[in-house]
Amino acid sequence: MNDEKSIERKSGVTRKERDCLITVRQNSSRQFPIRLCEIARLMGVKPPSSLEIVGRLEGKGLVKSRNGMVKLTAQGQRECDRIILNHRVFESLFVQSGIPVEDACRETGSFDYFLDRGTVEAVLQKIGNPEVCPHGRPIKSSSGKGAT
Ligand SMILES: [Zn+2]
Repeated sequence: MNDEKSIERKSGVTRKERDCLITVRQNSSRQFPIRLCEIARLMGVKPPSSLEIVGRLEGKGLVKSRNGMVKLTAQGQRECDRIILNHRVFESLFVQSGIPVEDACRETGSFDYFLDRGTVEAVLQKIGNPEVCPHGRPIKSSSGKGAT
């Protein structure tokens, strides 16, 4: 079985699409979209790849692109909120377990996009419902810049 495909079925996005969404979230706003070539640079991929990833995200209704400028849709914002919440909860768990913050952050990025809501809520309760993640960013009200 193709792992990437089964994860996509469960989460709605692939790892590359997740990275692209987070990149757009961190580097754009409703008024100021991000350029496609800037996405490619930040993700460390070639422009044709970023074009393809953005095309897939657009097909899923998560981003809108026009004249090479990309921004999140409302649905894309919600998907980022979900991923970032998952990220901050598991990152906190890892750090509480003694894992250095940067390792916790990197490792969490590899699975934060395909976790069930119930799992994340259970872990959040278990670790004592902290208000902020190890980077000091809010866990429950994950609005704002949305760095992971
Ligand atoms: Zn992080």
